[in-house]
Amino acid sequence: MSENIKLFDISKCTGCRGCQLACKQWNQLRAKQTRMRGTYQNPPDLQPNTYLIMRFQEVEDSKGLRWYYRHQACMHCSDAACVKVCPSGALYYSAFNTVGLSHEKCIACKECVSACPFDIPRFDERTDKIYKCDMCESRIANNLEPACVKACPTGALKWGDKDRLVKAAYKRAKELGDGAYVYGDKFVDGTHLVYVLQEKPGMYAALPKSPSVPLSIVLWKDVLKPLSILAAGGVLAGSFFHYIIHGPKTPDEDTSTKTEGGE
Ligand code: SF4
Ligand code: SF4
Ligand code: SF4
Repeated sequence: MSENIKLFDISKCTGCRGCQLACKQWNQLRAKQTRMRGTYQNPPDLQPNTYLIMRFQEVEDSKGLRWYYRHQACMHCSDAACVKVCPSGALYYSAFNTVGLSHEKCIACKECVSACPFDIPRFDERTDKIYKCDMCESRIANNLEPACVKACPTGALKWGDKDRLVKAAYKRAKELGDGAYVYGDKFVDGTHLVYVLQEKPGMYAALPKSPSVPLSIVLWKDVLKPLSILAAGGVLAGSFFHYIIHGPKTPDEDTSTKTEGGE
């Protein structure tokens, strides 16, 4: 099976928010009433009932006035901090190399919320569960593109073979020139949402410049935990060999003497 990714080309996005709505529809996420805050971005952030938002930014500098619309959802990291810290297996790598979420297994520990370098999972106090984009696993399992990609009218979102789309992303960045940037293929072992940005990542709100799995998680999961398992294995092996060499331990003879009538 080929490995697929979702590619978002910011230069082709008109900010229509068709993808945001399609995500809500496909995942049957009820909308909550919001109020006008003087910005196009609505709702203000990802929420348990909003797995995808279009981030809107108005930038004015020596290059003039520009609007950026960034498609923000789970990046589906190949080396996912959320999967590393999840103690219950609720977050998992799917057969499609994306990061799935099983609500039944979520024990509400919220470890993934603090671990994710992209600030994606959202916790719902009402249901005591975590929520995030699952790359429309039920659709891709049936050879359909994710709902957001299907809805995009401009071709800003594409779904397809990883090698082909990463190559297309670099070609597009070259065409755009002047600081255009491919974001996602170079960290956390590659993400399954890759961006073609028109500027360096530092220009975009809520987009980390060089995201990585937090060091404390790497140390615990990849170094200390295997060592502690090794140590526990050593103790077990030691007990086993002691048993083979010395045989079972017999109870010490009772040397105490009881005197009649005594206590
Ligand atoms: S973006 Fe965050 S929630 Fe999504 S796979 Fe990566 S670590 Fe997990
Ligand atoms: S892949 Fe599916 S769940 Fe993820 S943002 Fe797109 S529509 Fe929403
Ligand atoms: S549907 Fe396409 S053009 Fe519209 S906001 Fe989403 S990515 Fe941009």
